[in-house]
Amino acid sequence: MTISSPGSAAEGLSRLESLPLVHGYAGLGEEFSTEVFPRELRGAELLHLNRAGCALLDLDPDSVDPQQAVDWFAGGRQMPGARPVAAVYSGHQFGVWAGQLGDGRALLFGEIRNHRGETWDVQVKGSGPTPYSRGGDGRAVWRSTLREYLGGEALAGLGIPTTRALALFTSEEPVYREEVERGALLVRLARCHVRLGTFEHFHWTRRQDLVRVLFGYSLGRWYPHLLGLSARAGAFLDEVTDRTASMVAQWMAVGFCHGVMNTDNFSILGETLDYGPYAFMDDFVWDHICNCSDHEGRYAFSKQPEVGLWNLLRFAEALQSLFPDTAVEALMEHVNARYGEAFEVSYKGLMAGKLGVEVGAAGFDSLLDSTLDLLGRTKTDYTCFWRELSQCDLASTPDRLRARFAQPTDLDAWWPAYRAFRSDHPIGGSVGESGRQMLATNPRYVARNYLLQEIIAEETSAGRCQRIEDLLEVLRDPYGEHPGLEALAEPPRGAQKALSIGCSS
Ligand code: AMP
Ligand code: MG
Repeated sequence: MTISSPGSAAEGLSRLESLPLVHGYAGLGEEFSTEVFPRELRGAELLHLNRAGCALLDLDPDSVDPQQAVDWFAGGRQMPGARPVAAVYSGHQFGVWAGQLGDGRALLFGEIRNHRGETWDVQVKGSGPTPYSRGGDGRAVWRSTLREYLGGEALAGLGIPTTRALALFTSEEPVYREEVERGALLVRLARCHVRLGTFEHFHWTRRQDLVRVLFGYSLGRWYPHLLGLSARAGAFLDEVTDRTASMVAQWMAVGFCHGVMNTDNFSILGETLDYGPYAFMDDFVWDHICNCSDHEGRYAFSKQPEVGLWNLLRFAEALQSLFPDTAVEALMEHVNARYGEAFEVSYKGLMAGKLGVEVGAAGFDSLLDSTLDLLGRTKTDYTCFWRELSQCDLASTPDRLRARFAQPTDLDAWWPAYRAFRSDHPIGGSVGESGRQMLATNPRYVARNYLLQEIIAEETSAGRCQRIEDLLEVLRDPYGEHPGLEALAEPPRGAQKALSIGCSS
């Protein structure tokens, strides 16, 4: 632990014991969630407290007593003001209806409204069995907990809507997966834990009355601007569609592969939720499958846009009782068209920004196609390519960019057309300005799997903490330079490329 000793909270900030938790979701009643007391995680230790997460809760990080944090989040002691509940939901997993799922290893302690008026769920993941554990142990292992802790902060740094993290705990408790591992625990923060699968749950258990209750709650909390509309169900479906399309487009632009795009892992707020075997693209492979448990490649990188739509179609089905005068086929057709357009606008705008060119210019589509084709054929590192491109002087030979290619002549064949296009249609009105904008669009640092793996393999707490701090520093500002931490921008080499990550967590 690298946190200074606890004291009184700074002006305007709370201490852990006085966090003003409220219980809106728990208040919906036992059809939505079940009260469960967290089970002690043996030998738990607070490994890392995320100061950015504290800020979201108006919590003073310097006032946090590590032992108190252990007692309340991992020690099975009652936290003042908390009312832990496990929520029920269902979902489609890998394209198949999975029936009832629910929080099998997570408990919502309550919600906090911060001084900016945002409400954040405080959820503890890895807290022991619940009525929804389906035979599982209710635990989470160190490697997956660390990956989720840093994954959320990485996407947040890139400006992509996501769940966040407050604290990371390790433990002495053995947890049995393919082999014996150590249990860990994550305190997750999310503006929304209602999943597409939460609506599916009530629809497919024929509780349309509860679909309506959940709809009312969702509007009040996340979509209050729709409350006054007569066509609010349609506006809700539209907004969830737009937000999801935008989120997936942003994933594609930064080369993020989610890995488990089941409907229970998609929130109704269009935020990245449930980090499993995700990956940021290293060498660009359009059909990259980051989850080695995904044998069919259902969630391959290239499939993400269409899976986002598929999930929304299941959501539209689940909402059909809110549209008594509309056939479900028409509802789905509407979502189909709306998503297609929202995704295209969002994606092309982002890719134009990466290329540094105006999106509307004739010939843009073929420039984008030829760029992705170049990267795919040459398996060039995705992040390094865009970053180097941002730094190229169009007037001279792009030597540093050429050095990123195994066969620089592949780049040479593409370069003249790109240079001409950007010279004619630079974003921001000039080539110089387009370069500046590209540097604020194309990150230097992403949470590469090999970097996460190095922290996971670190034996000592001190070593882990320092590596986490370093990685958080660059991930929070992935467009900056960060002298001394340049190595964290390096692509993987040799065995670092061959990591295999599956669903086990
Ligand atoms: P996830 O892969 O974490 O999104 O989990 C999918 C579903 O399985 C959710 O309902 C989880 O709560 C549940 N689950 C995953 N792992 C466990 C576990 N070790 N014990 C109980 N439930 C689990
Ligand atoms: Mg999940």
